[in-house]
Amino acid sequence: MTRTMNFNPGPSSIPLAVLEEVKEELLDFQGTGMSVLECSHRSPEYDAVHEAAQADLKELLGIDDSYHVIFMGGGASTQFMMLASNLLKEGMVADYLVTGTWSKKAIKEANIIGKAHTAANTEKDGKFTRCPKTADCDFTKGAAYVHLTSNNTIAGTQYHSFPEVDVPLIADMSSDILWRPIDATKFDYIYAGAQKNLGPAGVTVGIIRDDLLAKCKDGLPSMLSYKTFVGKKSLYNTPPAFPIYMVGKTLKWLKKGGGLAAMEKTNRQKGDLLYGVMDKHPGFFSSPVEKDSRSYMNVVFRLPTEELEQQFIAAGKEAGMIGLKGHRSVGGCRVSIYNAIPLSWVKAVSEMMEEFARKQG
Ligand SMILES: *Cc1c(COP(=O)(O)O)cnc(C)c1O
Repeated sequence: MTRTMNFNPGPSSIPLAVLEEVKEELLDFQGTGMSVLECSHRSPEYDAVHEAAQADLKELLGIDDSYHVIFMGGGASTQFMMLASNLLKEGMVADYLVTGTWSKKAIKEANIIGKAHTAANTEKDGKFTRCPKTADCDFTKGAAYVHLTSNNTIAGTQYHSFPEVDVPLIADMSSDILWRPIDATKFDYIYAGAQKNLGPAGVTVGIIRDDLLAKCKDGLPSMLSYKTFVGKKSLYNTPPAFPIYMVGKTLKWLKKGGGLAAMEKTNRQKGDLLYGVMDKHPGFFSSPVEKDSRSYMNVVFRLPTEELEQQFIAAGKEAGMIGLKGHRSVGGCRVSIYNAIPLSWVKAVSEMMEEFARKQG
């Protein structure tokens, strides 16, 4: 069996060890004589999966019981609306740091629900090339919250330090959650769709702090309310059990591999390899991204012509690589190197980049 070197931005590669375990357990999950797909979400077998995933996520993030881990459907895009529904009350303003497509969508939804303020917007000549520093932001005093997108999947930018704020800080970490150890206690709410760095599509993970939960509106429709998810331990209705099970396996895989410190080491090696090649051939590979905002999850670059970009993507396909095309809104090339992507695959891309620059440059 040859595994495709999958550099897709999401859904993306899942660790082989996780897939193998899932395959192994598929017909008989823990002696139940059925798969976890068929188990009741009220069964003790499923309950153990659900609780372990919550506990492991807390352990990896280094947070205590003042935080609650919740599992929701609807993708990260539902969070754009759900967050504002819960926290953007009448007469209040929420601050948004706009750094790309996803934060634009987040603020758009917030403005349907209430009043949102663009506290920073790093778009320049139609491009997002960096993340803002605290000094770049025009924060609203007493804002309901500040929302940021920690990694910009399409633009290829990432925060390497987070702005200092004195109101609740919220992050969409869909494309870089658990890429390295962070001080999660800086955040009052973190959410992430699973399909980039945590597992398959179908579940969105939320990590919410007690005191923020207390500020959430009452009287919302049940499925829109964070209080329902926390109060019922994400079992108010049928949860996306199979994606949660796979997220749980991915978390165990992370722990077994040495946790987030080990993950960061590999992720930095991967990113540095690609950026190293780009920096070595600046006339051939150009980066639209400012150096101190370079993403270690989505590495974007341009070649001298669109024709060469197409050739590069085709050469990748030939070598067993997919997903090297940039997002249709920005063009160019993108290599998504999430946690599950092995260093050996990234070496293969970097060698192909070198060869291309030598031959075509
Ligand atoms: C992919 C992505 C989303 C959208 O996720 P869905 O689960 O498809 O709604 C939101 N934010 C970021 C940062 C993303 O990368």
